[in-house]
Amino acid sequence: MPELATLSQSSLQDYHDCPRRFELRYLQRLAYPAIETEPALENEKHQKEGEYFHRLVQQHLIGIPAEQVGKLANTENLQRWWGHYLDAKDLAGLRGLKGLYPEFTLSAPLGDFRLVAKYDLIAVDQDKVTIYDWKTYRKRPKTDWLAIRWQTRVYRALLVQAGAHFNNGKAFAPEQVEMIYWFADFPTEPARFPYKADQYKRDMDALMKLAGEIRNASSFPLTDDVSKCNYCPYRSYCNRGVRAGDAADAELETGAEDLFDINFEQIGEIAF
Ligand code: SF4
Repeated sequence: MPELATLSQSSLQDYHDCPRRFELRYLQRLAYPAIETEPALENEKHQKEGEYFHRLVQQHLIGIPAEQVGKLANTENLQRWWGHYLDAKDLAGLRGLKGLYPEFTLSAPLGDFRLVAKYDLIAVDQDKVTIYDWKTYRKRPKTDWLAIRWQTRVYRALLVQAGAHFNNGKAFAPEQVEMIYWFADFPTEPARFPYKADQYKRDMDALMKLAGEIRNASSFPLTDDVSKCNYCPYRSYCNRGVRAGDAADAELETGAEDLFDINFEQIGEIAF
């Protein structure tokens, strides 16, 4: 097996959905050979706008005035999302909060790997810590679907594992942690996931098991669930069809939006 040092929520989700996709993306590091979704250009534009939105929010959270940041919301989507962000009652509590850590990366050992996650925002308010994740999905995913995503499990567990420096050197108890997905196009329908000790134990056990399985894997079979292939960029490697899937479904199924994390550092700085 080629050297793989880190695991993330994206790679774990890929392994869970299709071991072959994990192999192609993270071990063979293949660029996308197929158009992931149709219409390709529109989808690419939406992804880039999503990346920009993340950057605008980050700039605002580090203290750049909203009027200044808002000038950079120069597309219809960005203007709408930015307006929703400024008006969101669920985000009003963040204003003036001292313990805001946008675009923060945490990592901790996981078996032979390091588990890494880049958080859109970690917000510490006295004895409570909230993870915010901005989503620019065109469809509001079902809360049950989000609950079982590896992102929801990894982000909360890793914050308990590696977030002690936000809490005067003491690890947060799972009950102090909550994760909120805030949807830029559905601003009044955030998805909230509090955490409990038994969920934390379940998540850590599952993560350790998965890390061991990946370390010892000798083959990476194609998924039996061919519906996963509709949105997969590696279809041509697997003879699983050539027609690309619908973009709005794809961003949920492939975690396309979450791939920002991998490329985020390469995005040019926005000049202010
Ligand atoms: S096309 Fe299907 S089988 Fe092939 S990597 Fe993608 S999800 Fe897996």
